Amino acid sequence: MQLQRYKAKVSKIRYILISHLHGDHFFGLIGLLNTMSLNGREQELHLFAPPDLSDVITTQLRCSRTVLNFPIRFHPLESGWHGVIIETNLLTVATIPMEHGVPCFGFLFREKEKLRRINKEVMPSTLTVADILALKEGKDLYYPDGSLQYKNESLTLPPRKSRSYAYCSDTRYNENIIPYIQGVDLLYHETTFMKDQEERAWARYHSTTTQAATLAQKAGVQKLLIGHYSSRYKELEPLLQEAQAVFSPTQLAIEGQTYIIEEL
Ligand SMILES: [Zn+2]
Ligand SMILES: [Zn+2]
Repeated sequence: MQLQRYKAKVSKIRYILISHLHGDHFFGLIGLLNTMSLNGREQELHLFAPPDLSDVITTQLRCSRTVLNFPIRFHPLESGWHGVIIETNLLTVATIPMEHGVPCFGFLFREKEKLRRINKEVMPSTLTVADILALKEGKDLYYPDGSLQYKNESLTLPPRKSRSYAYCSDTRYNENIIPYIQGVDLLYHETTFMKDQEERAWARYHSTTTQAATLAQKAGVQKLLIGHYSSRYKELEPLLQEAQAVFSPTQLAIEGQTYIIEEL
């Protein structure tokens, strides 16, 4: 329902990543799978989640006598594991082990190195498509006799920045993840509680505003996005202020909003 509300193209989804098996993170999944099937989807769907999800989905489909139109490729994530789960032409996705009392994963999205950009202001009109591709890949251009025609740097500009985003929910404060999230452009970290609830946060395997901001600071990330607020908080501004007191480039994650990571 939320995907529809925010006009996300459900048919374009190829991968679904489930961090852990608490209800607020996966109870909507069976409805989404059902909708995809009713919409005529035939393309395979990759599902990454802790191993028990496979049983849950199989049971739900069996008891509701539902046969999906499309195959699901299930990828079980073994507790505590860090590694690359998805690799496309554009990016890689890796798991980050979370500390949440049940098997739980964050996900690290990293764009691959991009091609160099053609400097249109100095580009000769005689270049072929093959020449342009070679330049984008960082190669120099040569005449048929093997002598140098153009040095790459004379016709190209450096590639655009490869961006990175770490999604960390749900988890206790855990400095062991710092090596994985070091220097990312954007860190999403849960802040279920404010700092006066630190004991409660620890007991329930959640984090506070101050803890998330401290982790962002120690990991040298560019920006922090906080979310997964306890329903006890009717106003979110105080949570933002607490986090910003430790790490000023912090924003509130608000459902339905888009957050852009600049490319340059
Ligand atoms: Zn949870
Ligand atoms: Zn949760």
